[in-house]
Amino acid sequence: MTTISPTRASARTPRRRPGPAPAPKVTDALAVIAGVGLGLAIALAFWGESFGALRAPGGWYELAARLCALVGTYLMLVMVVLMTRLPWLERSVGQDRLVRWHRRIGGWPIALIALHIVLVTWGYAQASSVGFLKQFWMFIVHYPDILEAIAAFLLLVTAGVTSAKIARQRLRYETWWIVHVSVYLALGLAFFHQIRIGVMFITSPVARGVWIAIWLGVVVSIVSFRVALPMGRNLRHQLRVDSVAHEAPDVYSVIVSGRALSRLAVSGGQFLQWRFLAPGLWWHAHPYSLSALPRPPYLRVTIKGLGDQSRAVARLKPGTRVIVEGPYGTFTRHRLMTSRVVLIGAGVGVTPLRALLEDLPSSSAVTVVVRARSAAHVIHGRELAELVERRGGQYYELCGSRDEVRLDERTMRGLVGDLRDADVYVCGPSDFTDAVAEIARRLGAPPDRLHYETFSF
Ligand SMILES: Cc1cc2nc3c(=O)[nH]c(=O)nc-3n(C[C@H](O)[C@H](O)[C@H](O)COP(=O)(O)OP(=O)(O)OC[C@H]3O[C@@H](n4cnc5c(N)ncnc54)[C@H](O)[C@@H]3O)c2cc1C
Repeated sequence: MTTISPTRASARTPRRRPGPAPAPKVTDALAVIAGVGLGLAIALAFWGESFGALRAPGGWYELAARLCALVGTYLMLVMVVLMTRLPWLERSVGQDRLVRWHRRIGGWPIALIALHIVLVTWGYAQASSVGFLKQFWMFIVHYPDILEAIAAFLLLVTAGVTSAKIARQRLRYETWWIVHVSVYLALGLAFFHQIRIGVMFITSPVARGVWIAIWLGVVVSIVSFRVALPMGRNLRHQLRVDSVAHEAPDVYSVIVSGRALSRLAVSGGQFLQWRFLAPGLWWHAHPYSLSALPRPPYLRVTIKGLGDQSRAVARLKPGTRVIVEGPYGTFTRHRLMTSRVVLIGAGVGVTPLRALLEDLPSSSAVTVVVRARSAAHVIHGRELAELVERRGGQYYELCGSRDEVRLDERTMRGLVGDLRDADVYVCGPSDFTDAVAEIARRLGAPPDRLHYETFSF
């Protein structure tokens, strides 16, 4: 069986590409481009507009309808770009924050496009002196691509509704994901009615060119970063399951081997999306953090069985093909601001901490605190202890039920002392990370030196 351990690492220090540093300047440039794009979308609504047209019956309604459509669609495109895994955004902002931004924008496109439908129908109804419903029917019967646009809107509403927290908690992740992916179809369906009946696009080739260029930019970023880049990476590395090792109750390490892994640029603490090409598993990808830095030709993830996919990894056969996307995440040494580092993990949350510990600069003074239900539930405890010992740091295991062993302010102060001069990395269930972050703040840790990874988006 193949194992990845600190001892093996010291026997042969492998060559590997370190994970790239964040690119805040590129991120700022992307923010400026997004702002310019929004300005253009607003400008397009006024393109070729005249006071004469505005004073005509329904004129103001039609202008407001165009504004809602263009800004709503543009925000929708921004939401898509946030999720295209642009490498500069992924490593500067982090996927969890990008997902939060994506969700925060979420309601606006739907509301604006709904308003567009009402306003444009109202405006045209006034211009033709007919009722609202009659005008709506005339759109469906006489205008090209309107049925497709209505279908697109219904798909968007479905994606929005199923993304609400209450619905997400009730749906299987895979169901939610399929509904969400249908947004690409919705965008495709909506595009043609914009170009073929949008007044400014019919009358001005320049306006049409600008709008098509914005859409093309989005399509290129989807194809490049969601399709071509992962495809190239997987063709290069040709990953396969090498072995599966039991680590703790319900926890297994999957060791994967591949080609040219010294060229995979990854930082300790990052995660990848893993798709195991085995029956029943091949069609969904799940995020798992590397639980050790790559040891070419091997990678390792350590997985706790929580649901269908994560339980099934225990039965993976050697030789099973693996497709990955990533690496992603900002829970890395690039966020370090001091030379004192405190790593606190609970349960399977120690996995990214284990890889991060290996990746910290040799000058870092480290303290590692691991929380687990019992000694048998500590994951990679020996490896963590060895790595900490080599650095001359402190390693603590707090084992026992929550009632028996409390990780409260007094205990934390006893273990890690004052945190004013430290970077604190926390990973575990969200109630654990929230509680530890609160205690760390009380022990003086400044907010910008508190770094979390929660295993949910
Ligand atoms: C950044 C990140 C890193 C992670 N690293 C690890 C790790 O190193 N080891 C580990 O054991 N677990 C890790 N997880 C958690 C792991 O992804 C989930 O436990 C796993 O996807 C559950 O899938 P399931 O089908 O077995 O369970 P389900 O019953 O389908 O889901 C259990 C929980 O996981 C969530 N989940 C399911 N699929 C996904 C998905 N594709 N993306 C995001 N969330 C999902 C569900 O919303 C639910 O809350 C990580 C999660 C994230 C977001």
